[in-house]
Amino acid sequence: MLGLMQQWPLLCHKIIDYAAQQHGDREIVTRSVEGPITRTNYRSVRERALKVAQALDRDGFKEGDRIATLAWNSARHMECWYGIMGVGGVYHTLNPRLFPEQIAWIMNHAEDRAIFVDLTFLPIVEAIADKVGSLKKIIVLTDDAHLPKESKLDLVAYESWIDSVDGDFEWKQLDENAAAGMCYTSGTTGDPKGVVYSHRSNVLHALISCQPDALGVGSTETVMPVVPMFHANAWGITFTGPMVGAKIVNPGPLMDGASIYELLETEKVSFTAAVPTVWLMLLSYLEETGKKLPHLQRVVIGGSACPRAMTKTFRDEYGVEVNHAWGMTEMSPLGTLGSVKPAYAGLDGEAVLDLKEKQGYAPFGVEMKVTDDENNEHPWDGSTFGRLKVRGPAVASAYYGGAGAENFDDESWFDTGDVAHINEHGYMQITDRAKDVIKSGGEWISTIDLENLAVGHPDIMEAAVIGVQHPKWDERPLLICVRKEGKTPEGSDILGFMEGKIAKWWMPDDVAFVDEIPHTATGKIQKMELREQFADYKLPTA
Ligand code: ADP
Repeated sequence: MLGLMQQWPLLCHKIIDYAAQQHGDREIVTRSVEGPITRTNYRSVRERALKVAQALDRDGFKEGDRIATLAWNSARHMECWYGIMGVGGVYHTLNPRLFPEQIAWIMNHAEDRAIFVDLTFLPIVEAIADKVGSLKKIIVLTDDAHLPKESKLDLVAYESWIDSVDGDFEWKQLDENAAAGMCYTSGTTGDPKGVVYSHRSNVLHALISCQPDALGVGSTETVMPVVPMFHANAWGITFTGPMVGAKIVNPGPLMDGASIYELLETEKVSFTAAVPTVWLMLLSYLEETGKKLPHLQRVVIGGSACPRAMTKTFRDEYGVEVNHAWGMTEMSPLGTLGSVKPAYAGLDGEAVLDLKEKQGYAPFGVEMKVTDDENNEHPWDGSTFGRLKVRGPAVASAYYGGAGAENFDDESWFDTGDVAHINEHGYMQITDRAKDVIKSGGEWISTIDLENLAVGHPDIMEAAVIGVQHPKWDERPLLICVRKEGKTPEGSDILGFMEGKIAKWWMPDDVAFVDEIPHTATGKIQKMELREQFADYKLPTA
């Protein structure tokens, strides 16, 4: 017997239709590439997205066409996404922090037919456009006045392009399983791999993320996605925001401490999200200026492990609650969030920080398990770590073109490549990327734990741990640190600080200081580069 309920396909444009109808006046604020702060609302974003869809349709773009975006978070970028999806196209976010050749490789792999590009990134497109044979149209996210007059490319200004249609257009009726968006993982090993989101997975992910113990945002909230739309869908906020009618504040091109602070203050942002490196910049700006954060209530931190010291500073100095989250491009991206379950009610002080060091638990819609290399499941005991595997309606079932098939098994489990343990209350803690874990005398040492501890030293800005060859133990940990400006701690100070807080055999064998730690295009520590840089390093213990 079948249920007798309606078929209501889960299509992304229904989200912006809803926002325009129920929350039409709610603001979208953007620090524009041209400079000024601009203001619009959901009603207008929808009207203009319809024009994007209509203009794409008129220009001959069809269902399934991949349409790239190379842009900061902005209202125009949102309009493009909804317009592209509304005509049945597939928005394909490109990460401008990649090398131009990598971007060209990705565009060719996806066969992008058009691109929406911010003025900032026009030089990238100018450098690679003739290497991307599929590319037919370049739309610059600006108006005629700001469009560069001299370019070797055939450019059109977004504002005049959408003004060339009247907006009398209806969203295409699509299968909810149709592709809606695409994002390539940064490919620290091998070529980048394309993740293809469907309308259904984006809508379900937005519903999952709205749960009170997930992002838990509502219509009264002012949300600033500092995490870029080109980094795993801005962690879904481009869908979650309109689904609940939250006010959105887009930081545009400026992510330094002073610029982020300015928007947090002037727009009274209550909720924000980004990788730890962004918050390092904000916190050091606050420390230098003595400014406070009276409006901000919650910050979601993920993408790489949120150091304990960061959670503590936000809480104790600024009264801001950190929600530590974990996810992946392949998961749309939310996987776990660190809300506090009743089992931990009443925790305070350091015990809260212990809990928040974990990446949190999975909301409804994400299944997870930890296994050994033979796929035997580990107990949820908070210490046995192994391969973290996940499945759910917003988790990838394959990569575009069939790459990386070994990461998916025939029961739909996706091997995340992370090493983790899960405790009896379901809280997961990442101990490493499988490729970064240090194998010392056959035992594993978690680099993330060591890094977290080292940045707890008041004179340390950032820390990374890598394995260095050792004649007896195969590998031993080397701690690489960036000192805070004006501070001069020695290696022995840092090791002294760490002593007693971890198992003796986990203690780094040496400390090296550098001016800067390299980061990937998504803000993670570039361990591969560090390993190359320190390939010939001789440990004093070797
Ligand atoms: P990339 O394109 O670099 O793979 P993703 O954002 O998809 O970018 O990266 C996902 C990976 O980032 C995860 O598999 C995990 O290793 C790491 N990661 C994300 N959040 C956290 C976190 N809170 N703590 C530790 N690692 C994290």
